[in-house]
Amino acid sequence: MTASSQSVEPFDLVIFGGTGDLAVRKLLPALFHRFLDGQIPASSRIVGIAREALDDNGYRAQLREALVGVCAAAQLDVFLQQVFYLPLDARKDEGWDDFAAFIGNQPDHIRVFYLSTSPELFVDICNRLGQYKLNEGASRVVLEKPIGRDLASANQINDAVGKVFSESQTFRIDHYLGKETVQNLLVLRFGNALFEPLWNSAHIDHVQITVAETLGVGHRGTYYDRAGALRDMVQNHMLQLLCMVAMEPPSSLAPDAVRDEKLKVLHSLKPIDDSNAAQLTVRGQYRAGVAEGASVPGYPEELGNNKSNTETFVALKAEIANWRWAGVPFYLRTGKRLPSRVSEIAVTFKPVPHSIFSADAGTLAQNRLVLRLQPDEGVKLWLTIKHPGPGGLRLRHVPLDMSFAEAFGVQQPDAYERLLLDVVRGNPTLFMRRDEVEAAWRWAGPILAAWTASGEAPRPYTAGSWGPSAAVALIERDGHTWNEDSE
Ligand code: NAP
Repeated sequence: MTASSQSVEPFDLVIFGGTGDLAVRKLLPALFHRFLDGQIPASSRIVGIAREALDDNGYRAQLREALVGVCAAAQLDVFLQQVFYLPLDARKDEGWDDFAAFIGNQPDHIRVFYLSTSPELFVDICNRLGQYKLNEGASRVVLEKPIGRDLASANQINDAVGKVFSESQTFRIDHYLGKETVQNLLVLRFGNALFEPLWNSAHIDHVQITVAETLGVGHRGTYYDRAGALRDMVQNHMLQLLCMVAMEPPSSLAPDAVRDEKLKVLHSLKPIDDSNAAQLTVRGQYRAGVAEGASVPGYPEELGNNKSNTETFVALKAEIANWRWAGVPFYLRTGKRLPSRVSEIAVTFKPVPHSIFSADAGTLAQNRLVLRLQPDEGVKLWLTIKHPGPGGLRLRHVPLDMSFAEAFGVQQPDAYERLLLDVVRGNPTLFMRRDEVEAAWRWAGPILAAWTASGEAPRPYTAGSWGPSAAVALIERDGHTWNEDSE
C-alpha cells in the first residue's frame, strides 16, 4: 500500500504562528498536498493562530496566494474550506476562551498543536493549553527547532512543556528525518544483505555529511546571529543524520527501538572541547563575493554589524568511540553562501587490499555510497568497472545512479508531508526524544565553550567558495578530500 492511500482519523491541527514563514511556505503546502492525495478527512480542521487581526476569509486569501501555483483553483477552494483562523496573542489572556470553545472538549478527538513560533512562546502556549485542558486525551504538541540554545535552556523548555504534555505526546520535529533519502538509509542498511556486513570500521574509511546552502542569512539575521551554524545545523540536523548512519540495527521500527539506538551513538561521540577544538573544528564567516552569478554582500554588511563573531560555516571531524566505528572519521561541514545547495551523506569504503591491475589501467578509486537529500533526492553507488570496448583493460569509476524522481517518475513528497501525518497518527519514530536533544547539546556545548574561550574570530571566506581553506586542510591532513561529486 502506498503512503498516499493510508487514511488517518479526523483531526484538528492548530498552527500557532499560522501566518509565519514556516507555516505559509512549508506546513500549509504540505497539508494541501496530503489533501490532494485524499489523506485529509473532510471533517478535519486546520486552524491558524497569530496576533494579526484576520478572519477565516482573510487568512484563506493569504494562503490562496501562497498555494495557488500548486494545483487547480477548484481543489484549492475545497481545501481552504477546512482552514480557519483565530487571532490570539499567546502572551495575553484575551481570546483563549474563544479558542478553547472553538476546539471543543473532546479529548478523544486528535488535536495537534504545532508551535511554529519563536521558542520564547512555547511555555506560555503550553501553559494555556493545559489550563484549558486541551492537553488531555489524544492531544499532541509539535515543537519546532531551535529547542534552546544550550543544554540549560533546552532543559528549561522541555521541563515546562513536560509539565503539560507527556513525552509520548511531544513531537520534536527535525524535518531532515522526514526526508525520503533518510528513510531510505534505513531501508538500504537494513533491507539489503549487501551493506550491513561492510558497515563498520573494517570496511568503511570515512563518512562525510555536507549541508551546503547558497543563501545568506537574509532577513533571519537577528535570529541567526544568536545561533550560528553549529546551533542552527550541526546540533540538530547533522547529528541526526550521523546517528542514522552510525546506529546499530534497531530490533524493529518501533519509535523507542530506533531512538534508543540513536541515543547510544550520541553518547558515544568523542568529546570536542578546549583540548582539541582547534585541531578538530573550523569556523568561518562569509565575506562579499559572487553567489549564483550575482554579487552578494558579506555577513557583516548583511547583518549591519562588523563585530559579530558568529560562524556561518563549520567543518569538524567527529569520532564515535565504539566497536563498530572506532577510528572512522565522520567529517561534517555546513555553511551559508557556499557554491551550491546540497545536502548529502557520502560513505567512502576502504581501498581494495591489493591491486592486480597494471599502472596503465588507471587508478583504483575507493567505492563510495552517496545519499543525496537535496536537491534531487537519490542514491549513487560509485563502483570501478572496465572501460567498455577494446584498447586494453582500463579502469573507470562510475556511479550506479538512482535519482528517485527519475526512477519512480514521481516528485518526492516534502518532509513535512510525512512528518505532519506521523504526528496525526501518533507515530514519533522520526521525532527527537528529549534525551536525544539533551545528549546532542551535551556534545555541542563544549565546542561552543571552546570557541568562546579561544576568543578567535571565525575565519573569513569568500561568498561562493567552499569555506575557509582550513576546512580543506582539516580533511586533507587525514589523506581524504571532500566529496567532489557534491561540488
Ligand atoms: P515568523 O515568520 O517570524 O513567524 C512567526 C509567527 O508567530 C507569525 O505568524 C507571528 O504572527 C506569530 N506570533 C508572533 N508572536 C506571537 C504571539 N505573541 N502570539 C501568537 N502568535 C505570535 O517565523 P518562522 O520563520 O515561521 O519560524 C517559526 C518557528 O519555526 C521559529 O521557531 C523558527 O526558528 C522555526 N523554524 C523556521 C523555519 C523556516 O524555514 N522559516 C525552519 C525551521 C524552523 P503575528 O506577528 O501576527 O503574531
